[in-house]
Amino acid sequence: MLNKFYDKFIFANGLKYKNNNFFLIDLPFLVCPAELLSGLLETNDPEFEKKIYYAIKKSVSTNLIPSFGTEFGLRGKKLVGFTEKYFVASGWGAITNVDLDFEAQKAIISVSNNPVASRLRSAKHPADHILRGVFAGIFSRIFEEDVECVESHCCALGESSCEFVIKKQREFDFSNKHVRRQLEPDL
Ligand SMILES: [Zn+2]
Repeated sequence: MLNKFYDKFIFANGLKYKNNNFFLIDLPFLVCPAELLSGLLETNDPEFEKKIYYAIKKSVSTNLIPSFGTEFGLRGKKLVGFTEKYFVASGWGAITNVDLDFEAQKAIISVSNNPVASRLRSAKHPADHILRGVFAGIFSRIFEEDVECVESHCCALGESSCEFVIKKQREFDFSNKHVRRQLEPDL
């Protein structure tokens, strides 16, 4: 027994290890120590952090979400639900609250038990640029509109959970220090 999500795949023989790689159906994945990602997020270099964010957003939106759709035959809100379960069951933490406004193309998401942020020792700013990119990529796809994600609270700063705000670039207030540090002002 791992958790409900993976148990189903194990039971149906959908979780495989072949040619030294792991696969969920045919989607490759790897098991990676949290410490490795914490190290990547500990540079305290905003330009590097933005590069990580935009690269992951692009990869999730253009490659990962479409292949989730193809591999598991899901679309729209079902695909979002599946993607959420995938990340939670894969150990990225618990999604404790989702405030989703589909019409306005906005969302606020809280994540607790984040294994990467809780290992950061010297963070002075919200540090989850990988998760920011994942959320921006997922929601750009489901809203069918280019949206960005800013982390406004973070476990790495001793807060109880991480909070992510997702909306259109032009709706962010660039006088806010987190927005200025995390997004390019004009794209
Ligand atoms: Zn965080």
